[in-house]
Amino acid sequence: MDKLIEYFLKFPGIGPRQAKRFAYFIAAQDESYVKNLAELILKVKRNSRTCVGCFRIFDAAGDGRLCDICSSPSRGGSIMVVEKNVDLENIEKSGAYRGKYFVLGGVMPLTGNNKNGIRLKELFEKIKKEKPEEIILATSATTEGENTNRYIENILNPLGVKITKLGRGLSVGAELEYSDGRTIANALEGRH
Ligand SMILES: [Zn+2]
Repeated sequence: MDKLIEYFLKFPGIGPRQAKRFAYFIAAQDESYVKNLAELILKVKRNSRTCVGCFRIFDAAGDGRLCDICSSPSRGGSIMVVEKNVDLENIEKSGAYRGKYFVLGGVMPLTGNNKNGIRLKELFEKIKKEKPEEIILATSATTEGENTNRYIENILNPLGVKITKLGRGLSVGAELEYSDGRTIANALEGRH
């Protein structure tokens, strides 16, 4: 049981109390429920792949290395930099954006030299190679997000590409993950 709680604790946004509740919930279910869940988790893992173009995790039926967005000829012009997969999926759902993406993998912490393992080098290489018309920074409207934006602007500046940021129809601290389609469309229109 303790081991299972430890696993749940690693989930994003899950604290010790929730982790415990999950573990007890699992223990209380029928064996068939748990078996189906375990098999589904394994299946999802085996069928998903990280796109070599944007680092999005996608459902890969074939053996393509690029996701459907990166390989679509009708998408392009701009590259939007988002923190995580769920942000990308939420923007896609809004239908307000027709360019490509780059999944950064997080934001930089405010203190120290720790870059939190985010894909800054990969971003630089991609922009250098693809030279998009515009880069849209769409990190969270938090101090960490703003800090990360400034850092990215500094490293990409020498490449001479136009860089914009989402307009903040999103309230301070708001995350793309929880924004509705209208808010995302407004933020995109108000980019500067
Ligand atoms: Zn991709």
